[in-house]
Amino acid sequence: MTKTLFGRTSLIITSTMLAFLIATIAIAGYFIILPVGKRNAEDLASLIHLSAKTYVELPPETRQDFINELSKNHQLFWGSGSEQLAAHTHLKPHFHYMESNLSNSLGSTVDIAPDVNNPNRHWVDINIAGESVRLGFDRNRIGVSLPSVALYLLSILAIMATLSSLILVRKLTKPIQQLSEAASMIGLGNAPEILPEEGPKELAQTAKAFNKMSADVQNLLENRTVLLGGISHDLRTPLTRMTMALEMLPNSTDTELKRELVEAVDNMELIIQEYMQLTKGFEDEDIECISINTLITTIIKEIKPDKDQVINLVGDTTCQLETYVVALHRVLFNLIKNAVSYGNKNPISISWKQQGGALQLAITDQGYGIPKQHQDKIFRPFYRLESSRNRASGGTGLGLAIVDQIITRRAWKINLVSNDNGTTITVLI
Ligand code: ATP
Ligand code: MG
Repeated sequence: MTKTLFGRTSLIITSTMLAFLIATIAIAGYFIILPVGKRNAEDLASLIHLSAKTYVELPPETRQDFINELSKNHQLFWGSGSEQLAAHTHLKPHFHYMESNLSNSLGSTVDIAPDVNNPNRHWVDINIAGESVRLGFDRNRIGVSLPSVALYLLSILAIMATLSSLILVRKLTKPIQQLSEAASMIGLGNAPEILPEEGPKELAQTAKAFNKMSADVQNLLENRTVLLGGISHDLRTPLTRMTMALEMLPNSTDTELKRELVEAVDNMELIIQEYMQLTKGFEDEDIECISINTLITTIIKEIKPDKDQVINLVGDTTCQLETYVVALHRVLFNLIKNAVSYGNKNPISISWKQQGGALQLAITDQGYGIPKQHQDKIFRPFYRLESSRNRASGGTGLGLAIVDQIITRRAWKINLVSNDNGTTITVLI
């Protein structure tokens, strides 16, 4: 809960309001509620004392009228003396004020006790001029107490804090959510819609800065495509010329040197091709239906592994899938090629199974594996492990970068598990 914006905002608002409330209650209680309560209690005690005194001084025939008058106009009740009194501890300080006031004025200890049958009614016995008089009053006569005031205020505070956090958070989260969705779209290589540059100053500024950044990113991507497309195109002509020149070299040329040069030129062409692929993406591709078994068999033929390389295919041979075929071909080609290149000539297994609407493909090799610290870096362009650089495997280091780009773009998922015994890469489509 405290991880969400709502949780945190409510926590801050509630604790601030609570601290403020406690301070207010303490100050108001000390300077207003307690003194007023004390005055009330003392007034009531004086009234009780006076009534008892008047009662005993009155001639017996007028006493009943006086009793009626008291209960009608002053809400003081006459007790018969047979009322059952409850054991008690007074929570409200008002009772203590009354008891000490009456004890002082009567010169003997006075106790106020609630009625067993009606805890609202309290009785007090007054001994005056040799007579004992029992007088009663209701609890509401002594006014509200501090605990109930605090309880009311706390309930109101809880409702207010929740409501204000809700309103505040709603106002804040909407633009932040829009921002997060737009950022995810950029992450997927798409151009998000322009965010509204309105609302509170800080949010409007953030939206403005984001829109600018988004436009800059789009420009950069376009420039990169144009630039790399241009360079690749322009490099192809001299490369073709070099290939022709190499073929026209006299027979006396060192054949080993010639072979190395041809290989270097071929490699350059491969790099240019992959670079163009990386910049172009797969924007306009259509979805087609393919048989997974056929696709994988085709790819293996294209890779041309050594004759003695064992590749096991494990999966339903009739499995069909509607998907972006060119993209999937590209992904599987790179992954299988890596398994062949870095699998140390051990058997490779390619398996697939359909799960719900998704297809799960796994490519497992038994090579040297990829150390933990390199596992997420190998998806960066041109990142190759030292061992692959030393080996004359001739890779460019772009294969997994292209795979990663396609996986992100198509919202597929890729998972890599690797240790000393080999590597398994799983793709979820
Ligand atoms: P390219 O695929 O562009 O021809 P590459 O194979 O070197 O060149 P990536 O496919 O991007 O480039 O792989 C990057 C690096 O990750 C490789 O050079 C290799 O070091 C390591 N790697 C990739 N797959 C495996 C694997 N199955 N086992 C061990 N290392 C691997
Ligand atoms: Mg590769």
